[in-house]
Amino acid sequence: MKVHFKGTRGSIPTAPTAQEIEDKIINALMAARGNELRSERQIREFVSNKLNFRTRSHWGGNTPCVHVDTGSDDYLIFDGGSGLRVLGKELMAQKVSNATFHIFLSHFHYDHIQGIPFFAPAYAPSNRIVFHGGHREIEQILREQMREPYFPINFDAFGAEVSFEEHSPGDVVEVCDSKITLFKQNHPGISYGYRIESHSASMVYSTDCEHTNAAHLRDYPFIDFIRGANLLIFDAPYTLCESIGNREHWGHSSNVMGVELAARGDVEKLAIFHHDPNATDEDISEFCAHTRKFLTGTRHAVRQSIPGIPGAPSPRGLPREVLFAYDGLTMEL
Ligand SMILES: [Zn+2]
Ligand SMILES: [Zn+2]
Repeated sequence: MKVHFKGTRGSIPTAPTAQEIEDKIINALMAARGNELRSERQIREFVSNKLNFRTRSHWGGNTPCVHVDTGSDDYLIFDGGSGLRVLGKELMAQKVSNATFHIFLSHFHYDHIQGIPFFAPAYAPSNRIVFHGGHREIEQILREQMREPYFPINFDAFGAEVSFEEHSPGDVVEVCDSKITLFKQNHPGISYGYRIESHSASMVYSTDCEHTNAAHLRDYPFIDFIRGANLLIFDAPYTLCESIGNREHWGHSSNVMGVELAARGDVEKLAIFHHDPNATDEDISEFCAHTRKFLTGTRHAVRQSIPGIPGAPSPRGLPREVLFAYDGLTMEL
């Protein structure tokens, strides 16, 4: 299973400012002083080995979209944020046609559907698109965002054959050589998380979910949903303080909550997702360092805790890794 992150920013698409890019170049040139950088090869090596991610790159500003390649001929996609436009552009460049796209939607907040009108393969008559979700009236809601005065052309402009499938928690959806299950999540208007099992790999796509105090209980159902997954994509734009402070009830969770749940669910890799649109690369970099420090701390706590007590971290020292997803990240499970 190959996971391609096409959009990882939450709430609204963002772009770096001219000043931010200039600052990155200045920081890179400062770091380059005194290095032997005559050939392109030397420069490329310096950039990838010596510069940190926030100086040489950018976490990205497209809103949620994750493409999961299971080896099937059909396409498995989670959410239709602005990252879906990027995926569509790549597929058109590869001249993909006669294809079936299964797009699973977490919910209908703009940042999760705004890429759909710009998904170029939807306009090609040879393609087929199936929208999946746990909400009712998916068709009606998607048609609403593509009508005057919100958008110049309506849903019927799609040349592809489009259909809609509504599912419920407990259902097992079998598409793209995968078994997919749903989990109802706490978010304004409700959202759905998805667990994907394909061949011998498993992952959970869980965005826009606020885990409250109930998450610390021993039998918290989300733990069973994520148990043993190779990867958990987890919505955590906030610090613990923010999540229980002024951003409580905004529908999202903290990095600390992500680490705790991933540890208790014996998840191998935790990918922090749905980054705050106000966070700069410096902010995300610092947030990432704090999260990894917390993970190290919980591993230390494991040695002193009694396995099985509510909230106790994994005795196996999981998750092994916490990473901050960025637009363009590809990961093999
Ligand atoms: Zn969102
Ligand atoms: Zn939302």
